[in-house]
Order: sequence, then C-alpha cells, then structure tokens
Amino acid sequence: MAGLEKPSKGAEKILLAQIKQEFAAPAEAIEQYIDLVEEFGIKNNLDISSEINQIKEAEDKLLSQYEDAFRENTASDKQAKTSQEYSELRHNLRTPLNAIIGYSEILMEDFEDDLSEECIKDLNTILSLSRETETAIERFVDFIKGDLNEKAAEDSEQGQIQNAESLFRSLGDIDYSLDIDDYLKGSDVLIVDDNKTNCEVLERRLSQNGLSCRVAIDGTSAIAEVETKTPDLILLDVMLPDINGLELLKRFRKNHDRDELPIIMVSAFNDVDSTAKCIKLGASDYLPKPLNGTILMAKSIANLEAKYFRAREQELLKELNLRATTCPLTGIYNRQVVFDKIEECFEKLNQEKDYEFSLLSMDIDFFKSVNDTYGHPGGDEVLKAVASGLRDACGENVVGRVGGEEFIAVLENKEGISLNDYCENIRKAVVELSIPFQDVEINITISGGVINSSEVKDQEELVNLADERLYKAKEGGRNQFIYN
Ligand code: GH3
Ligand code: MG
Ligand code: MG
Repeated sequence: MAGLEKPSKGAEKILLAQIKQEFAAPAEAIEQYIDLVEEFGIKNNLDISSEINQIKEAEDKLLSQYEDAFRENTASDKQAKTSQEYSELRHNLRTPLNAIIGYSEILMEDFEDDLSEECIKDLNTILSLSRETETAIERFVDFIKGDLNEKAAEDSEQGQIQNAESLFRSLGDIDYSLDIDDYLKGSDVLIVDDNKTNCEVLERRLSQNGLSCRVAIDGTSAIAEVETKTPDLILLDVMLPDINGLELLKRFRKNHDRDELPIIMVSAFNDVDSTAKCIKLGASDYLPKPLNGTILMAKSIANLEAKYFRAREQELLKELNLRATTCPLTGIYNRQVVFDKIEECFEKLNQEKDYEFSLLSMDIDFFKSVNDTYGHPGGDEVLKAVASGLRDACGENVVGRVGGEEFIAVLENKEGISLNDYCENIRKAVVELSIPFQDVEINITISGGVINSSEVKDQEELVNLADERLYKAKEGGRNQFIYN
C-alpha cells in the first residue's frame, strides 16, 4: 500500500492502550449492571440466580480471555497468525459475550412481569455494553492482524495513528522531574515493603528528589520506626510477611490522624474495592504496583504539601489566638480575656447555686517615678516582672494586664485558703520581687481593691466597686489591699 507508514513503537503502545481501554470500559461496566440486577432479584425473591450465575461466569471468561489474548498478541516476540487463526480468536472472544447477551435476553423475556422498569433498563444497558464490547473485540483483532493501521491511515490524515503519534511526541516533551519546594526538602518518609528491590527503587527516587528515607521490611519494624519518630509520610505495602498493611494502617490511625500522618498504600491489588477499603481505613492515597516514578513523586509531594500547609495553618491560628488574647509586652492575658472571663463568671453565677468568685483590681504604686528614674525600658522590665509574679501567685485563676500598670485577677479558686490570705500572698509576692535592671535591683509595691461577687448585682458594679477600693488603698498609703 503506497505511502503507508507503520506507527512508531511509542505510538503503537498508545494505540494499544486505547484499544484495550475501548474493550475494558464497557466489559467491566457489564459487571456492575449484573450486580444491580442480582441485588434486585435477591430483594424481591426472584428465582433468577442461575441466569445471573451464567452471566457472571461468562463475564469472568470474557475478561480473562481478552487479557490472555492481549498479552499473547502484543508481546514483542508474538507469532504471526494465519487468517483462519484470527477468525478463531475473534470467535472465541465473542463466545462469552454471546452468553451474556443470550441470558440477559432470557431474563427480560421470562421475568418481564417481575422486573422493575429500572431493572429492564439495566438489562438493556448490558445488551448495549455487550455490543460496544463486540466492536472493541473487532478492532482489537483488526489491530493485531495489521488491518487497522491501513484503515486508519486511509481514513483520514487525522487518523488514529497520527493522533497517537502526536500524543507520544507530547509525552516526550514533558520534563519528568517534579520540582519539590525547599520547605519539603528533607521530609522524613518511611518506606514499608518486604521486597528489598522495591525499597531500593523507592528510596532512590525519593532521595533523588531531596526527601530523606527510612526503610522497614516488615510490620514490626515499621511500628518501631514510627514509635521512634513519627515520619512525615509513610508508603505502606499491603502485603507484608508479619502484619498485613491494612492492619498496620489501622494501628497507625489509632494514634495519628490523616492530617498529622499521611499514609499512601502501595499494592498490586489494583482494583476499586481494595482501593476504597484502604481509603475507608484511613489511607490518604493509593498507589498501584508496578509503581510509576512520576505518579509516585506527584502523590508523595501532594501529600507532604497538604500536611505541611495544614500544620502551618494550625501554627498561624495559634499565633493569631495568642495575639488576640495576650499582652505583647508581658505575655500575660490582655484586657479582653479578663472581661470575657468576668462575663463568663456572671453567667455561671446565674446558673450554679453555690458558685461565687472574687475580683482583685491592682495598680503598681508610684510607677511614674520608676519611669522617671530608670526610663521607659526600666519601667517595662518592672511591668514584665510584676506580670509574671502575678501569674505565678494567681495559680489557675485568670489574671491580665488591663491598662498601663493596672492588672485584674478573677479569683474562682482560692486553693482552700481565705480570700484575705490568698490576696495577701499576691501582694507579698510583688513586694518580694527584686527586679534587675542594668546594674540595680528595682523594688516596687502594688495596691488593690478586692470584691466578692455576692456583694453586687452586675459586672459594672463589680468593677466600679473594686476600683473604688483600689482608690481607697492608694489614699490609705498604698502597698495594701482593701476588702470593703
Ligand atoms: P500611683 O501610685 O498613684 O498609681 O502612681 P503612678 O505613678 O503609678 O500612676 P500614674 O497613673 O501617675 O502613672 C502611670 C504611669 O505608667 C504613666 C505612664 O507613662 C506609665 N506607663 C503606662 N504604660 C506603660 C508602659 O507600657 N511602659 C512603661 N514603661 N510605662 C508605662
Ligand atoms: Mg500606679
Ligand atoms: Mg495607673
């Protein structure tokens, strides 16, 4: 035939993949529809199991025969066949399909009155999928005979071969190396696989891309590795000699959730069910064997990236929360937290019969003169020392900086001692502070007004009365707390 060019090896591979897919898509879909019909039969007590089993058997045969024929006839050392042999192959491949069509038709005829409309539709779908499968078988046999190349080249310039050639060229242009961002470099990946060669290949690929790898060749050592240090990612083989991969996955998920520890399952069981099972058990992703290096890297990077950004998000939230709730100079709670706490305490007061709390409003004495003597930096050192002294002295109670050198403590738990003793300890704690600044030690005192929730009716009154008592403490000579 003039001007006919044989497809290149690469294009031929793509064409073959397409031809196989044209068969597999409808052929495998038949199985799903048979399941639906079978389920209907069981639910409605129909006696259709023998037909269903015939169809299922034929379906299995269809898939396995095609698989064998595909392998034999596309191998590099394949033997050319005679015309007669090609006809036989076509016939053999079609035989199970005829059974599927035949039994589906029988079901439709014999159970016409018992089957639902939807069920009839499913059976009709099986018939049309069978016809698609038949066409795909034709194309397959044509292809391995060599007819298809001629037909495609004759049909049009943009024929199948040209498409395949161009796809092959595009694939050739792709740079297979995947960029891995600096922040992911050195990520700790644990490879769990009992096959040493697999481990080596994985380790080489991942290390080439800047990841750092650990290897475990069985479940027991995988557990030990994770206990030593939680990795950033696990590539987990499903088949292991001691504990199987799924059990291991369940075990890891008990202590580490998906966000914290991504686990990619690696398995030769390349079917939808086992993939779905892994995902249900907590796998982050699934890689089929034999591994493709590019997909391996893409999925590993995607999972590491997701983990990294989730962790970063948590950090930012924490930081945001810290900024919203603490005073940047002293690190203790800010005004907002103190007043929210007071509000919360009032709510509790309305709900719980025996509940009460006290408020302690404090102000550093002669603080202005600290600033005047030691400058603002000296004053800041005093503020920091007083804040941390108050935090220590107040234990679990909330204490915060509510103004320049003003603090409020909300006392819910006086740790078994009287309110006066508790507050006295706080005052003494400040007196005892010796605050180093440059080459001196600064000493200061604090005054305060104390009030109990039982004395007032609302939040405003509580704060005002505490401030009045604080004022009294100042008037009365400072370095004292006033209780009434
Ligand atoms: P009193 O015993 O009556 O409370 O006297 P005082 O000097 O402590 O009170 P006053 O209200 O006169 O002075 C408070 C000073 O606190 C004035 C202000 O400049 C200073 N100040 C407020 N915030 C800060 C701060 O963040 N750092 C420093 N170093 N000083 C502050
Ligand atoms: Mg003051
Ligand atoms: Mg003041």
